[in-house]
Amino acid sequence: MTTPHAHEDEFIRFADDDGHGPSPGGQSVRVWKILVIDDDDDVHQATRFSLEGVQLFGRPLALLHATSAAQARDLLQDIRDVAVVLLDVVMETPDAGLGLVDHIRTTLQMVETRIVLRTGQPGYAPEHETLLRYDINDYKTKSELTHHKLLTTITTTLRAYQQLCLIEAGRRGLEQIVEASGELLRAAGLQRFASGVITQIAGILGTRPEGIVCAQGQATGGYRVLAAAGQYAHLVDQPVERLQDERVVALLKQVLQSGQSVFTDNASVLFLGERQGDGMAAFVQSDALIEAVDVQLLRVFCTNLTACLNQLLTLQRLHHVAYEDPMLKLPNRTRFIELLAECMAHGCANRALVLVDVDDFAGINDLMGHDYGDGLLQAMATRLAELTGPEVILARVSGNAFGLLGPSDIVDPERVLGFFVTPLQVAGKPQRVSVTLGACLLDDPGIDGVDWLKNASIALKQAKRDRRGRFVRFTPEMAQHARNRTQMLSELHAAFDHNHLYLAFQPQLDLRTGELIGLEALMRWRGQDGRMVPPDRFIPLAEQSGLIVGLGDWGIKTACLTMRELLKQGLAPKRMAVNVSVVQFQTPGFVERVQDALDAAGLRPDQLELEITESVSLLGHGVIETLLERLRAMGVSVAIDDFGTGYSSLSYLERLPLDRIKIDKAFVTQMSAEGGPRIAELIAQLGLKLGLQVLAEGIEDARAWRTLAAMGVHEGQGYHIARPLEMPELVEWLRHRPADPVQYTKE
Ligand code: C2E
Ligand code: CA
Ligand code: CA
Repeated sequence: MTTPHAHEDEFIRFADDDGHGPSPGGQSVRVWKILVIDDDDDVHQATRFSLEGVQLFGRPLALLHATSAAQARDLLQDIRDVAVVLLDVVMETPDAGLGLVDHIRTTLQMVETRIVLRTGQPGYAPEHETLLRYDINDYKTKSELTHHKLLTTITTTLRAYQQLCLIEAGRRGLEQIVEASGELLRAAGLQRFASGVITQIAGILGTRPEGIVCAQGQATGGYRVLAAAGQYAHLVDQPVERLQDERVVALLKQVLQSGQSVFTDNASVLFLGERQGDGMAAFVQSDALIEAVDVQLLRVFCTNLTACLNQLLTLQRLHHVAYEDPMLKLPNRTRFIELLAECMAHGCANRALVLVDVDDFAGINDLMGHDYGDGLLQAMATRLAELTGPEVILARVSGNAFGLLGPSDIVDPERVLGFFVTPLQVAGKPQRVSVTLGACLLDDPGIDGVDWLKNASIALKQAKRDRRGRFVRFTPEMAQHARNRTQMLSELHAAFDHNHLYLAFQPQLDLRTGELIGLEALMRWRGQDGRMVPPDRFIPLAEQSGLIVGLGDWGIKTACLTMRELLKQGLAPKRMAVNVSVVQFQTPGFVERVQDALDAAGLRPDQLELEITESVSLLGHGVIETLLERLRAMGVSVAIDDFGTGYSSLSYLERLPLDRIKIDKAFVTQMSAEGGPRIAELIAQLGLKLGLQVLAEGIEDARAWRTLAAMGVHEGQGYHIARPLEMPELVEWLRHRPADPVQYTKE
């Protein structure tokens, strides 16, 4: 069933032969085309006479005539939707008829057209095999051309033709759907499918593809246009109400709600789906009245499509799971990267990307509960969507960060910060939020989507570090810096795996007696180029990557084993101090691993001290007290490192179960300046008042020693006593160390 051609009318003569094509209503009437091919004029006459005024299956018959195989070929060149061919076997040549059959089936590929052969002489009947090969329906002698017999023949062959057309339409529909399914994993899949439906229905009805497919949106409940063709094309992705024709809107809604297809004089509205209220409605305009046969065809088609649609929707749902944040119903990170890639592919001029990170979201979550946290994110999403508008893509790129992609004058970090000046409304109450932003202009088309997200993340990380509550714009140098860090991190991993890290030990002495009381273990890394990488550089890197956990455990274990070795040699001091990072401190099982390290080296717990920086107080009250108490209960002592440089409140520190504070070397160095000792003294007195041991680091000369000792500081370490020493040097130093403190206090 193909689209009618305008020029074919000149060939068509209606069986009643009054010559009128179009019906009185101005609509063209669908007909069954019957092609009579015979070199005998009488046969044409007789056929016309027999079939005059006949209507079968609701349509009139239209006769086409050709008097030779050659003429028939010409005619078939333009008209393909011939239902039945009545063909004379012997014409110009004895095999002209069979030659034409071959042409129809093989060259023209007209497989649905039914062929009835006729011949004057019974002896010319073709072989049975030939009849089968060319799918020839019937073979009749011309004597059988009575009115009645001919009508019976035409009726049965027409029925067969109709059946074949149905099958063919189904097959073509399926082909389209198979094609559409290939595209499904892209968001466009459903649209493709829907527009395939329009084309297909139009094909069945023999009209131009002109129509729309719509469905009820899962989220909004509104009716949206999924696909549209012809004059409706502009409606794609719009609410169906945008369609000016109220009657059609009403029809579409009626069909979706009732789950029943509707056919009117100039439109078919088909329901595709299994249940009412869930599926698609396809509206296709048609100029002609839709006939019963087409309705039947369309119903078969709908059943086929419904099965496909269900599969498709399942796939779409899977797609959503993979590409959508279920809580906020926003594109997730994966989808955002795709959207970025699409943006880059379409030219990214004046486009910008901003990442919006909620400051201290974890804290708010802990304090107010997760429902509140969810509400906060929801409120943020709403605010961002409202203030940026439809031109901007909003996505959730991580637990507490959003991504904005759009024109650079709208997606501008300064502007976005301004969105949060007014508090949000969360759970009915105003909630102030502080956000930190990382921004970049998509000004290099050579960089792909993922990398832009990386760049914005680099900027965000830097902002989080140095500009909380503000923003940082990405620069290429930042990327270089980040690459260096990544490079360094992978080298650090390798060094750790290959045992290329080692410990150095710095002695700690009693400032009054000069007695050796401890050693501080300090990590050392000699890089691939032989140069030392200072721990101030690689420890923070290890902390950010989580490598510190393994690294730190190794440090504790190795320090304990060294202590065991020194005990064996009779050179060990009272305790070994090991630095512990906050990240490491808060990992589950930390206390147990410390116990394991002690057990493995056969040490008493009081032979180990852990140095923890003040920043542990950021872990939150309760958590840290519990951990420290467990360590103390074991007998391990704890020192607060870099005391005075952190931000913990004194009242809080007072409550912590501690053994020692370490005055940071910065304050000790400062002592030589004008009025310098004041802070060191303050810190020392504070420690003493809290009843703690006080140890000063960074003692670089005798004067510092004397000053600190005079302040009541109990212990010290520094270059004046010894630099951190590698194992052989340490053993050497321990063997020959001066025991007399006078040595250290003399200039
Ligand atoms: P820290 O814990 O404050 O360690 C003392 C730092 O001061 C060491 O630097 C040490 O070499 C240096 N130092 C000692 N005496 C003097 C002196 O008289 N003058 C001067 N100017 N400096 C002195 P180092 O070894 O470079 O370590 C730096 C930081 O790296 C340490 O500071 C510590 O925070 C961290 N770190 C080192 N090893 C480890 C470790 O095993 N685990 C963890 N988590 N951190 C470590
Ligand atoms: Ca330390
Ligand atoms: Ca320090």
